Amino acid sequence: MTDDTKKSGSNVAPLRAPRPCPECGRPSHREHYPFCSDRCRNVDLNRWLSGSYAIPVADDEAKADDDER
Ligand SMILES: [Zn+2]
Repeated sequence: MTDDTKKSGSNVAPLRAPRPCPECGRPSHREHYPFCSDRCRNVDLNRWLSGSYAIPVADDEAKADDDER
């Protein structure tokens, strides 16, 4: 059995292509993919939660309307 020839080929493809962290641009970490660290992931998450992506309509408009007597 000489199947070794196939195994010894150093043609190992990486699981994922390295991608820069969307927050800081540093190479992403496997554990926090696609971010480089837990912090960057939280930053992104916070951005979502803080409303940059949300629709800031209901509360603000309702208040403005209420103030205008
Ligand atoms: Zn980062």
